[in-house]
Amino acid sequence: MNNNSAPMSSVRRIAIVGSGLAGLTAGLRLQRLGHDVTLFEKSRGPGGRLAAKRVPGGSADVGAQYFTARNPGFLPFLREYGGKHCFAEWHGRFGFRDEHGQWGSFPDEPRYVGTPRMTAITRALSEHLRVTPETRIEHFARVEEGWQVFDTEGSDLGTYDQIIITAPPAQARDLLKQSQLHHLAAKLDDPVQKVLPCWAVAAHFAESPWTQHEGMRLEHPVLYWVGNNSSKPKREDAGQWWVLHANPEWTQAHVDTPAEQVAELMLAAFQDIAGFTDTADDTVTHRWLYARSRDGEQPGHLWFSVEGIGLAGDWLAGGRVEGAFDSASGLVTAMTKGS
Ligand SMILES: Cc1cc2nc3c(=O)[nH]c(=O)nc-3n(C[C@H](O)[C@H](O)[C@H](O)COP(=O)(O)OP(=O)(O)OC[C@H]3O[C@@H](n4cnc5c(N)ncnc54)[C@H](O)[C@@H]3O)c2cc1C
Repeated sequence: MNNNSAPMSSVRRIAIVGSGLAGLTAGLRLQRLGHDVTLFEKSRGPGGRLAAKRVPGGSADVGAQYFTARNPGFLPFLREYGGKHCFAEWHGRFGFRDEHGQWGSFPDEPRYVGTPRMTAITRALSEHLRVTPETRIEHFARVEEGWQVFDTEGSDLGTYDQIIITAPPAQARDLLKQSQLHHLAAKLDDPVQKVLPCWAVAAHFAESPWTQHEGMRLEHPVLYWVGNNSSKPKREDAGQWWVLHANPEWTQAHVDTPAEQVAELMLAAFQDIAGFTDTADDTVTHRWLYARSRDGEQPGHLWFSVEGIGLAGDWLAGGRVEGAFDSASGLVTAMTKGS
């Protein structure tokens, strides 16, 4: 116990849905204040969109590519709970290519990645918490003592004083509707429309297909981002793994296209931009239905004190890794104000 701990009378049992960065941040901050926290995660491991896929010889980051640390509290938080080896600065050359093929530079600021893969961060943070994996929360039911939580198998996962949802808005809205909280679900109708999908392809080349940049943001009919995953710190891949992200409009138009065909089309676009002729000798594909939010309102977090239900996640605070951290930190402050 530390000096910030809640007195025993005000210790709350809190369930957190999701163990991406927002869920883990909220969990660690609430636990530090002395609360009794349990996280539920539908996937096999923590991380959410801070994601890596196994590829021959290593892994490739198919979700978030890097993160910034403009909030001065962010890196100290990661170091405190994750240790100083779970992330490092990515010293790459980053370029922006406009629709006419003209190149510009990224703003000059440090960019960080998990080491040796993005999920190293969330794995390290999750070690301090009680995370129940492979458990998809289906609904909560109001009971006298608070909220009873159920998964999709119908299992009763216990009763909690408060609940935090960190799922993307469409999944968060489903949970609220299934819990008969229609008045709260309605507040997510607009954010649900603002979340965009993204096809991701990791492609292996024997030699670098492009040598001018390690990361490129593109205004292009197919591609949004191309990055050299093997240039990130502590990757020891043979050859080079590159990660390609399609833009939201192209992804939407190809959302049901078979993965192999998507990989071919996206690689052809990369070849066209970079002018190389070698083909990739291996590819791994991933489809994100809920990748990033665009143009939504950014209240930071949502805290419904009457119901004891909070929402946090990147989509409430800028749609980026750092936004997930800011959102969860803000929610915990709101939940614990005056306690
Ligand atoms: C392709 C792509 C590229 C990106 N690039 C960048 C980038 O370069 N820089 C950057 O800063 N950001 C980037 N982002 C955004 C960044 O990944 C996110 O902002 C951040 O990871 C979101 O964290 P989160 O905790 O809010 O949500 P998530 O990481 O989505 O976590 C939500 C968690 O909830 C779980 N969940 C959902 N429903 C349930 C349920 N019913 N029961 C149990 N668990 C549930 C999910 O499995 C997930 O683990 C990118 C995202 C994508 C997809």
